[in-house]
Amino acid sequence: FKNNFIHSKNLNSKKNFLYRFNHKMTVTVNRKGSKSMSKKRIKSICIYCGSRLGVSIEYAHSAKILGETIARNNLKLVYGGGNIGLMGVLAESCRKNNGRILGVMPHILTKKEQGKENISNYIITEDMHERKKVMYMNSDMIIALPGGIGTLEELFEMITWKQLGLHDKPIYLLNILGYWDNFIHSFNQIIKDGFLEKEATNYFKICESVDAIFLDLKKEGLIESYE
Ligand code: AMP
Repeated sequence: FKNNFIHSKNLNSKKNFLYRFNHKMTVTVNRKGSKSMSKKRIKSICIYCGSRLGVSIEYAHSAKILGETIARNNLKLVYGGGNIGLMGVLAESCRKNNGRILGVMPHILTKKEQGKENISNYIITEDMHERKKVMYMNSDMIIALPGGIGTLEELFEMITWKQLGLHDKPIYLLNILGYWDNFIHSFNQIIKDGFLEKEATNYFKICESVDAIFLDLKKEGLIESYE
């Protein structure tokens, strides 16, 4: 792969990926949330996951399978651009299987998160906000793996934007070892307590394995086939 290093300070050279960054977001769903997901075929997947490995090897194992699966199915991986924790495992597995990858790293974290420069496209952004927006604007759907506060923040933003009707991108939680169970419990409690509409349960799907996510994407007609 030819590396594309695009420093976002250099606004004129952002044509490859950052051009979408400045596009106005359009309202695509009504505020009640949509029951069926958009039928637009998925080409790129934004993954949020931990910059740490977590205590169980199962987390890294699933990240590895997800990286392979994205590559094998000729989809593009969009992620935070780091080479540590689950992020690193995911990207390395996708790279080893000749997958296309867009890594988006804010310049303040290039050392801490070991910016993974040996991927097809690596972008350095001005700040965290720009990072998230570039990831969002360049992906068709979102998967959240286990992770820490950063993962939660990214996931919550996507769910919030969906609630506001700013997008209708499918969101999946990869519930490895029941990692998201407590979150789902809290989410349901928020609905019960009247701070969130019932339809909010349609904002994301919960799958127990990578295989389950891809089978569901196929069932929904969001990918043609899956191997
Ligand atoms: P964590 O889940 O805390 O291990 O972090 C996962 C990823 O989220 C890391 O790449 C963090 O740098 C990133 N992250 C944390 N906070 C933010 C933020 N406010 N905006 C963008 N990325 C973030």
